[in-house]
Amino acid sequence: MIVECPHCHKKIEWSSTNRFRPFCSERCKKIDLGAWAEESYVITSTSPEPDEFPDEIRDAPH
Ligand SMILES: [Zn+2]
Repeated sequence: MIVECPHCHKKIEWSSTNRFRPFCSERCKKIDLGAWAEESYVITSTSPEPDEFPDEIRDAPH
C-alpha cells in the first residue's frame, strides 16, 4: 500500500516496518509534531500566570 507523507507528499510504502508512518521519515514526523506543539503552546499560553499559583506551590522545593 502506497501513501503520501502528510508533510512533504512524498510517496511511501505503508508497512509495519515503517515506524514513521504515515510520514516518510523521522524528520517529517518531528516537523509535524513540532508544528502541533507550537500550536498547543499558543493555546496554553492563555492559562493563568505562575504568579497566580498558591504560595505553597511556589515555595515548594524543586
Ligand atoms: Zn515526508
